[in-house]
Amino acid sequence: MLNLEYTLEIMQKICTTPSPTGMTTDVMKVIEAEFNKLDMEVSYNNKGGLITYYKGKNRTAAKAIAAHADTLGAMIKEIKGSGKLAITTIGGYIPQSIECENCVIHTSEGKTYSGTFYTSKPSVHVHKDAGTHERTIEGIEVIIDEKVFSVADVKDLGIDVGDFISFDSRFRITESGFVKTRHLDDKASVAIILGACKYMKENNIIPKNDIQIFFTSHEEVGHGASHGIDDSVSELLCVDMGALGMGQNSDEYTVSICAMDGGGPYDYELRSRLVQLAKEAGAEYKVDIYPFYGSDGGAALKAGRNLKVGLIGPGVYASHSYERTHIDSILNTAKLLIAYMQQ
Ligand SMILES: [Zn+2]
Repeated sequence: MLNLEYTLEIMQKICTTPSPTGMTTDVMKVIEAEFNKLDMEVSYNNKGGLITYYKGKNRTAAKAIAAHADTLGAMIKEIKGSGKLAITTIGGYIPQSIECENCVIHTSEGKTYSGTFYTSKPSVHVHKDAGTHERTIEGIEVIIDEKVFSVADVKDLGIDVGDFISFDSRFRITESGFVKTRHLDDKASVAIILGACKYMKENNIIPKNDIQIFFTSHEEVGHGASHGIDDSVSELLCVDMGALGMGQNSDEYTVSICAMDGGGPYDYELRSRLVQLAKEAGAEYKVDIYPFYGSDGGAALKAGRNLKVGLIGPGVYASHSYERTHIDSILNTAKLLIAYMQQ
């Protein structure tokens, strides 16, 4: 059985370590430290993706498991004359999902400042159309929590165009077992993989072949696993969120097995094997289709890799917004993942 306490603890640590795509060094160091505790050494590709191996009897990796450690974020597009900041998005999300959210500005010199995302009409006492005016990213401003009134004031703080902005993840676990935080996509999966490795190490489980484990750094912008998977690998299992909502089959309690996403069907034989493994392992699962979705698997295939690709993961409500899942989904995902790794 997965050590749930450990998995949730590391999930919180990872979710609260800022890592918008392009700024993932800190979170990778957190993950590296966890692997080192398990006697697993890591390396990085040039893009900043973390690679390690779960050792098998045969020291050549035939399978790879991938999850992404980068998240959504923003970048300063313009410093306005008012001292407020205009932003551009990193990854795909709607402006409503960050309205009134706290954030952190990361300057090029390593300083951080807090701020808040607002529309240009945030007060109902002032703007009659505060609730109804059209939401656009161009209409979102960051108010820095400093006394700034001009471009010069902002620049004096060391803040400039091109600085990264990360979102407050607001991580919390309810007594009823729900995990609510930003960035469950895909940090929940990162934590589940770490939990699965810890379980297998502690139980001396040695798979037939090495398993390459790859935490990618650029999934949210479309080229996560386009590079980094060993030539010896013939099969890639992505662990990434199940997409929930109206008309969807997945939920917050089971492991989602993806049949097809926006890039087309996943490998049918591998999907069928995952369903069989879930049944054997007693992991409650749902097979589903994610209409507007891409993954590290799609990135690898588009880069020309000749791989069987599958996708499993915890069901995440309100994806790319303030997200929610349940520990049941985490446990079912871990069950299936451990069964797959043991094969
Ligand atoms: Zn994802």
